[in-house]
Amino acid sequence: MNLIDCHAHLDEFDDPGPVLERAVAAGVSGIVGVGINTATSRRILEIARQYSSPEIVPAVGLYPDEVTEAEIASILELIDENHSALAALGEIGLDYWVRELRKKAPGRERVKTLQQEAFRLQLRKANQYSLVPIVHSRGAWADALRLVEEEGVGRALFHWYTGPLEVLDGIIAAGHYISATPAAAGSPELRAVLAAAPLERIVLETDCPVPRRVGGERIPTEPADVVYSLRSLASLKDVSEEEVARVTGENARRLFFPPGRGL
Ligand SMILES: [Zn+2]
Repeated sequence: MNLIDCHAHLDEFDDPGPVLERAVAAGVSGIVGVGINTATSRRILEIARQYSSPEIVPAVGLYPDEVTEAEIASILELIDENHSALAALGEIGLDYWVRELRKKAPGRERVKTLQQEAFRLQLRKANQYSLVPIVHSRGAWADALRLVEEEGVGRALFHWYTGPLEVLDGIIAAGHYISATPAAAGSPELRAVLAAAPLERIVLETDCPVPRRVGGERIPTEPADVVYSLRSLASLKDVSEEEVARVTGENARRLFFPPGRGL
């Protein structure tokens, strides 16, 4: 099996070594490591330099819930300094379900505007350096797609997309991708979008260490658990696991492992 975990918060593991060994044993050949701010993005760059198996592609980015003026400036600088080592920017995007936006507090519009500004500036960097944006769009699905389109991004990954099917149609029509996570075993929203999207536009990921649910339990994930994303997607699509691994693997390699990329 030749699996790629397209979204892993590798900085969350104190010692990535054993985690990566288990990934190789599970058939994982590539991982896209993502950051959420300058500090975690730096750590992802370090891990990608330090370990070579599985192949790790670093993505750096500022997550919507981490946005401040100072963080925007420092993440843009980090992208400029490291763009030749990157294939993607992530985890970036919009999140209208963050605490400040759920309550009707003053300053609500300011939070939204700042998220959008950070997202746009990073999308522009993605275009400038031909990097694929890995987009978080929780509760902001239509706006996230609108900004990606307004900035003229050719290909983006709408990671763990669980929004409306009308917006999904727009995502697919514009040439973008979505992902299957271990939650594909049970989440009705995720299962609906995975059923509606063509396999040629789906990649696999874990979003580790975000826990997966097993019965009443929540078990933290790691890249090896991308096999659960594979199994759920294969059964949902009624296609063999080998075929799902092959097609999603080709999709992931096309997006994140271009030939000639070097650290
Ligand atoms: Zn994530």
